[in-house]
Amino acid sequence: MSIRIKENYYKVVWRWYLAPIRLNQIDKKYSKQCWRGCQEIGTYIHMWWSCKYVQKFWENVFKEIKGITKTEIIGTPEIALLSFMDNIQISKELKELIANLVTAARLLKAKKWKGREELLNM
Ligand SMILES: [Zn+2]
Repeated sequence: MSIRIKENYYKVVWRWYLAPIRLNQIDKKYSKQCWRGCQEIGTYIHMWWSCKYVQKFWENVFKEIKGITKTEIIGTPEIALLSFMDNIQISKELKELIANLVTAARLLKAKKWKGREELLNM
């Protein structure tokens, strides 16, 4: 596993990326709301997974994965955010390929952490 992939994994797991609700806890001048304009509270899981704008992004990622691997994988936060696929019956090689694909998507998502417009066009 490359350093960049490991770095992203640890940053996601250890919550290096600050969500709006966390920023609000640090300083009240920041709003708790998601900065993508969906009007929801910006929790960590909301910002990475459940925001309607992020859901569209992940739908596209898993659609591309299906196209590349010819395998239907139901997108879950465990797969998207942690590359966790122990409960899926596919080959080790396919799991590694999917892990690399979701990691690439996660790196892209992290790069556009505060963006909305860019996210919609990915
Ligand atoms: Zn949102």
